[in-house]
Amino acid sequence: ATPTALLVGTGRGAQLGILIKGPEILESTRKVDTVVLDKTGTVTTGRMSLLAVHTAGSDGSGTDPSDADEVLRLAGALENASEHPVAAAITRAARERVGELPEVTEFGNLEGLGVRGVVDDHAVLVGRPALLDQWSQRLPDDLAAVAELESGKGRTVVAVAVDGEPRAVMAVADIVKDTSAEAIARLRGLGLTPILLTGDNRAVAETVAREVGIPSDDVVAEVLPADKLQVVKDLQAQGRVVAMVGDGVNDAAALAQADLGLAMGTGTDVAIEAADITLVRGDLRAAADAIRLSRRTLGTIR
Ligand code: ADP
Ligand code: MG
Repeated sequence: ATPTALLVGTGRGAQLGILIKGPEILESTRKVDTVVLDKTGTVTTGRMSLLAVHTAGSDGSGTDPSDADEVLRLAGALENASEHPVAAAITRAARERVGELPEVTEFGNLEGLGVRGVVDDHAVLVGRPALLDQWSQRLPDDLAAVAELESGKGRTVVAVAVDGEPRAVMAVADIVKDTSAEAIARLRGLGLTPILLTGDNRAVAETVAREVGIPSDDVVAEVLPADKLQVVKDLQAQGRVVAMVGDGVNDAAALAQADLGLAMGTGTDVAIEAADITLVRGDLRAAADAIRLSRRTLGTIR
């Protein structure tokens, strides 16, 4: 294609809400055959809500409300220091239920796992059940059973330990964007294979995948942030030309590694900087538009 055609292509992209870093990027866009999609904030809204707090000793049907409130107060205070969508849900619910939240000291973000810190002189750990395992704070059988039940419903399970004791399991849920299923159908229509990639648990990932029409064989779940990059590399090693769509800090390395990185304009600055293309409105359908536009600009289709 001529430089003029490429410039026209990028200009047309801007009209569609697709910001392309440079005209040469259209060339790599054209060859893509696989699209790796981050789940939270990309396929789903990322605006999560807290649905349940199950404290230790409960059977999962009801909880001692005062105990649940105390766990929520400590967890909410800790999560106030995190920017993760799960954290936002927990902090919001804690404020609604107990009001003002205490300060956190010695905060630590365990990327893709959870958070830890000190709240009211208590050491608090909040995150994936696997995080508690790592810190030798395995869930007791009753909480493990509740966790299983909740994740079976397609909810994200967040465990809370206080002073080294597992205290509660919380269930958080996200909503699939109403444009995601159509976007994925369009990507398929362009001959691309969509793959869902997430740090979240397998049950949640498969629930979302089913909703948007991705078979469970094309779901990669429970992936740590550092390993998202490896998933892209592995696909490339198989000879695939990979586009990655993401929004989070934890997607940045994979976005940079991909042959084509697309960031949600509603996502983090780090993701936007790492990507080649920004989907301004955070609408996944624009990913299909971008690929169609580049093919058309470069004369592959008319
Ligand atoms: P995704 O790949 O879906 O965008 P992440 O890699 O950011 O998700 O996180 C993976 C999982 O780690 C989340 O689903 C959640 O269970 C857990 N997690 C990450 N950060 C936090 C946090 N601040 N609080 C609680 N859980 C967290
Ligand atoms: Mg994300």
